[in-house]
Amino acid sequence: MDNQSDVVGLTRELLRFNTINPPGDEQACAEHLGRLLEGAGLTVAYHAFAEGRTSLVARLEGSGDKAPICFTGHIDTVPLGAQPWSKDPFNGETRDGKLFGRGSSDMKGGVAAFVMAALDLAGSTRPSAGLVLVITAGEETGCEGAFHLARQEGALGEAGAVVVGEPTANYPFVGHKGALWLEACSRGVTAHGSMPDKGVNAIYKAAQAVVKLEDFGFNVAPHPQMGPPTLNVGTIQGGMNINSVPDETVFSIDIRTIPGQTHAQVRSVLGSYLGEDVDINPLIDVEGIWTDPQNGWIQDVYRITGEILGESPEPRTATYFTDASILTPAYDRPPTVILGPGEPAMAHQTDEYCHMGRIVQAQEIYTRIAQAWCGF
Ligand SMILES: [Zn+2]
Repeated sequence: MDNQSDVVGLTRELLRFNTINPPGDEQACAEHLGRLLEGAGLTVAYHAFAEGRTSLVARLEGSGDKAPICFTGHIDTVPLGAQPWSKDPFNGETRDGKLFGRGSSDMKGGVAAFVMAALDLAGSTRPSAGLVLVITAGEETGCEGAFHLARQEGALGEAGAVVVGEPTANYPFVGHKGALWLEACSRGVTAHGSMPDKGVNAIYKAAQAVVKLEDFGFNVAPHPQMGPPTLNVGTIQGGMNINSVPDETVFSIDIRTIPGQTHAQVRSVLGSYLGEDVDINPLIDVEGIWTDPQNGWIQDVYRITGEILGESPEPRTATYFTDASILTPAYDRPPTVILGPGEPAMAHQTDEYCHMGRIVQAQEIYTRIAQAWCGF
């Protein structure tokens, strides 16, 4: 292990834990961070949603009544992909100011930056408001770790503001769309392909439903930053062979919602629109996030990042969804910002890298955000 004194060193240590999800296997990585945080005086609790699938919540208590600020990030990564890498994905190779590795941008650099900020701050005077670090497993496959934490009574505690360290090149984003992924299924009755009148063709039913979906309207005003909600049919599978009437067809629908839409309502409207011939079941259901840029704390974050980035941030939103879809509602909807050192375009890519300067910069930004909130 590297010397743990710097944030790039800590990122490299995290890259060496293979936490590709599936299977995830985040336990050793979580325990490594837990030991560092405990060593600095934070209280650490582990929560595994399955064998080896460990998230952790670390707390530094404040002395006053103000709720703590939450920094959150996930430690699982996506698979390496089919293309060969030119760099070792697990060894933290560096070149031209870039740190290469699976998870460098998404988002072990971000986790290392807020953990280092917490380690440094924990050594100073006791703040009036505390810190809570929520480090999750299983984010990439549908926020399993965050859902598990939200279901455990008392695991998350409270938070008055949330910083999500997902890749934004340190630009503060004030929200993102929600995702509602549905599996739709139409059923029929099989028969010999030479006697289609004896059967009911499930592909015809699905085809009619898919054509109808192309015209589906959400009937909501577009969001000023995120635009309208969208719908896409991504896959379709039906039929066993050419000479049978197919009795089942399955297709998938990817809906991206805007804040203010309730997913239960979208599902019920879509269900009636498609009619009884199609059953729909959710695969992923995470609602959107939005904080008014005029919120006082967001203005603090804009000021701090503006000074460090050298440009005044404008209201922007992320294209992906994050654990904030679960954590922010669980914390009773405090203001939330998505802000981390990773390169958004590098997430999930072959030869993923993060600029080392951004990781150092993120530690500084997180430190100043924490100081402003907690009164260190
Ligand atoms: Zn991520």
